Parts: sequence; structure tokens; C-alpha cells
Amino acid sequence: MAHDHVVLTVDDSSTMRRIIKNTLNKIGFSNVLEAANGIEALDVLAQNEVDIVVTDWNMPEMDGLTFVKTLRAKPEYKELPILMVTTEAAKEDILNALRSGVNNYVVKPFTPDTLKEKVYKLLGL
Ligand SMILES: [Mg+2]
Repeated sequence: MAHDHVVLTVDDSSTMRRIIKNTLNKIGFSNVLEAANGIEALDVLAQNEVDIVVTDWNMPEMDGLTFVKTLRAKPEYKELPILMVTTEAAKEDILNALRSGVNNYVVKPFTPDTLKEKVYKLLGL
């Protein structure tokens, strides 16, 4: 099934961005934008209509948590669905991310089905 939603994937690892992009393509999303950190992602968001953000936590320049807090502080991004995909699997980290405004959480490594389920749910598909 093809979807016309625009997804922004944010990760400092180009390999991880490629994996996420390929997975998103496979589950029907062909409009995938990329950024290597929070600063770049804010730039991409300012210039594009994005429907959902899939972000890493650990990144240089601006990490995922700071990025999420920055988004949630802006009225225009208060409702933007945000999925965090990260290796930080401790309960404390997950709670911290959710408290900061992340809508859902995926621990790396993830299966395509897990990503699909969470992205679909956040987009109401
Ligand atoms: Mg990283």
C-alpha cells in the first residue's frame, strides 16, 4: 500500500538512515527526508511539510532529546508525531523521552514489522 505522507528520518549514522529509509519504502512510504542531527532536522522541517519524525537519540550538534524538546516548545510542532528509534533501552531513558514529548519508542535493532506498527499507529493508518 502506498502512502503520500512525508517522513523525516534523523540519525547521525548514514547506514541507519539508509536502513530506516529502505524499511519505510518497503512499508509504503516513498517520501522520506533525511537529516544527520537535530539542527539539520529543524532546517528540513522549516522547509518541508513533514507528517512524522523518526529520530535517533545520540547525535552530535543537537541530540534527539534536545531536538524533541525544541520541537515541543514551538506551537507549530506541538502535535507533530515523533517516534524515537534508539539503542537507549533503559526504562528510565524511555520515560525521559516520553516525558520530553516523544509519542512512541523503538529500540534498535528493530524489525520492519515493529517500525511499521508504530509509524502506522502514529499516523492513524
Ligand atoms: Mg546516533
